[in-house]
Amino acid sequence: MTSRNDTLFARAQTSTPGGVNSPVRAFRSVGGTPRFITRAEGPYFWDADDKRYIDYIGSWGPAIVGHAHPHVIKAVQDAAARGLSFGAPTEGEIEMAEEICRILPSVEQVRLVSSGTEAAMSALRLARGATGRDKIIKFEGCYHGHADSLLVKAGSGLLTFGNPTSAGVPEDFAKHTLVLDYNDAQQLEDVFAKMGSEIACVIVEPVAGNMNLVRAKPEFLQAMRRMCTQHGAVLIFDEVMCGFRVGLGGAQTLFGIMPDLTVMGKVIGGGMPVAAFGGRKDLMKHLAPFGPVYQAGTLSGNPVAVAAGMATLKLIQAPGFYESLSAQTAKLAQGLSAAAKDAGIAFCADSVGGMFGLYFAPSIPGSYVEMMACDKAKFNTFFHAMLELGVYLAPSAFEAGFVSAQHDDAVIDATVEAARKAFSSLS
Ligand code: PMP
Repeated sequence: MTSRNDTLFARAQTSTPGGVNSPVRAFRSVGGTPRFITRAEGPYFWDADDKRYIDYIGSWGPAIVGHAHPHVIKAVQDAAARGLSFGAPTEGEIEMAEEICRILPSVEQVRLVSSGTEAAMSALRLARGATGRDKIIKFEGCYHGHADSLLVKAGSGLLTFGNPTSAGVPEDFAKHTLVLDYNDAQQLEDVFAKMGSEIACVIVEPVAGNMNLVRAKPEFLQAMRRMCTQHGAVLIFDEVMCGFRVGLGGAQTLFGIMPDLTVMGKVIGGGMPVAAFGGRKDLMKHLAPFGPVYQAGTLSGNPVAVAAGMATLKLIQAPGFYESLSAQTAKLAQGLSAAAKDAGIAFCADSVGGMFGLYFAPSIPGSYVEMMACDKAKFNTFFHAMLELGVYLAPSAFEAGFVSAQHDDAVIDATVEAARKAFSSLS
């Protein structure tokens, strides 16, 4: 019997490049046919063949309260009934801004946008506009959306400027981006010593989730804070993924480090297109309409999206929410590690709050280079075995995974049970 997923994938490729609207969805890394999703509820979603999966991507982070949570759906329905978009301000946007400023210690003012890409791009422009400098520092393996300056990889040596990672990014843009090694504080200090007065900002994922999960070393982030303060550069934490995910107050609360600007997304939209950037008032005042740094959006602060985001922000502040989410995620990581050990597979797992990493490696990677040494072929086989058994993991060895508040003990146990079978097929 042909799968409806196969039929849809073949059809999709006629009208859409690669059949998908965001590349990782195409299963290029793991091979096979992407699943076309028809509905989702709690920790599950269903594909076009009506097969149910335990979902560990949660829309790549937003679905932290579980899919189709009744409070979120109700908020969206109520907002939609009042009109979809006005292009004029609403009280809901004030509430959302106030809530974000209350939750994130470093954020005094915030601007809402519609995607993480847009938020990171705007934060970068703001940092450049406020400092009057062009050069930026990013780290290999961190993703900050697809703005031109950020689609850049390391040059051939330290202090050489970056090379574009995408066709269509001019060398002239890439040359302003320095790409350094994640978790290498010494290298960062060396670069600041050489050219600190030229650097507009450092942008980092303070818990990295786009090269699988990599924890930042506290001393790495501390060095970054120190260097930026000393040299008048802007420290930008990209908390699109780890914000409201590793804990309510994000990585800045976890590490006790105050960035100058924070980029947000995913959870704050509750599954609808909301992202934001915010930080110190004296920086944010450089933005239009009063300041010289331009930034705008037809659908920014969209009332229906903001309603979904606000409902989600309320739910995640329930007492014990993050304790429980972290415990379930840790339970998953431990369960998978134990199952792999029993099967004699070189594997480990890690978790921070509600995000996790799975590594086909003897120990947990702490850098981009260590991550790239993981056994990708083993991951791909494991991924397909789990998919067959009804567990949907991120379709790439280099992506983090996400647990929701609806992943209860029974769901985690079922996942570990499936993993036992999947691991045994690997050995
Ligand atoms: N920054 C980080 C840390 C991200 O993980 C992502 C998306 N995965 C982005 C920025 C870009 O966000 P979006 O896909 O909403 O443009």
